[in-house]
Amino acid sequence: MPAQIIDGKAVAAAVEQEVRADLAKLPYKPGLVAVRVGNDPASEVYVRNKARKAKELGLHGTELVFDALMREDDLLSEIRQLNRDNNVDGILVQLPLPKQIDPKKVIDAIDPAKDVDGFHPINVGLLHLGRPTLVPCTPAGVMRLIGSTGVEIAGKRAAVIGRSDIVGKPVAALLLRENATVTICHSRTRDLPGIVREADIVVAAIGKPRFVTAEMIKRDAIVIDVGINRLDGKLAGDVDFDRVREVASWITPVPGGVGPMTIAMLMKNTVTAAQKRRG
Ligand code: NAD
Repeated sequence: MPAQIIDGKAVAAAVEQEVRADLAKLPYKPGLVAVRVGNDPASEVYVRNKARKAKELGLHGTELVFDALMREDDLLSEIRQLNRDNNVDGILVQLPLPKQIDPKKVIDAIDPAKDVDGFHPINVGLLHLGRPTLVPCTPAGVMRLIGSTGVEIAGKRAAVIGRSDIVGKPVAALLLRENATVTICHSRTRDLPGIVREADIVVAAIGKPRFVTAEMIKRDAIVIDVGINRLDGKLAGDVDFDRVREVASWITPVPGGVGPMTIAMLMKNTVTAAQKRRG
């Protein structure tokens, strides 16, 4: 029997319902500010979608757009001002930034209590200690999707392919927190197919279309495809969906899997940040 599809749109809609229910209990509207520097077309779309979703759910969503030639110091002082603004609960800076600006300095400048992307070193540290924190949105979405299958994670073998700070590493930390036995595979891993074949849970975050083939997948594994690639003019994930589906028990499609989760988890993080900071 082919794998069941994990419907990211449906799970994201459920998360959005939770956000609406939480918001209904708050006497204020949490504020999310999405900062963009320059006019990278993809960033423009991402930031607009984030601000739009915030408004749709009843948060106070604002887009702050600065010139591509902005100086690093000026961006840092804008961030500090947002840190001080009591109506701002969540700050995110869309990456990539223009080359004159060091993204590390910018991330370090965000108040960890408002760091709804979960990229600040304090939040990354807390995540790896298994302590409560603002968790990066795409990895948090991956965990919700795995959770939606009802399959127990504890004790399972998991392979995360990709070790980026944004996806691979935090996904691995979250799986470990749920007591999976986790292996992180990357571009220098020897016998990657052999390692992935042992995994009950596979998370692919590589950025190479159809990298994960059916031969790499253990029968009845759960396969989560984070990749977003263009192939023959269409969106494609990192997983060879049609063939892997014949082997796996659960699989996410691209589009319609991990993608819709990222913004939903960002909204959830903003509400969480507001509740924690404002008490
Ligand atoms: P990245 O380029 O920062 O990291 C890719 C990782 O893949 C690296 O750690 C690298 O070691 C590994 N890798 C590269 N080639 C490999 C190979 N041949 N064998 C094994 N490992 C290899 O990418 P990222 O930011 O982690 O994103 C990964 C993919 O996920 C991209 O397609 C990106 O567009 C997508 N993405 C999707 C969402 C979403 O919301 N759905 C969010 C973030 C990223």
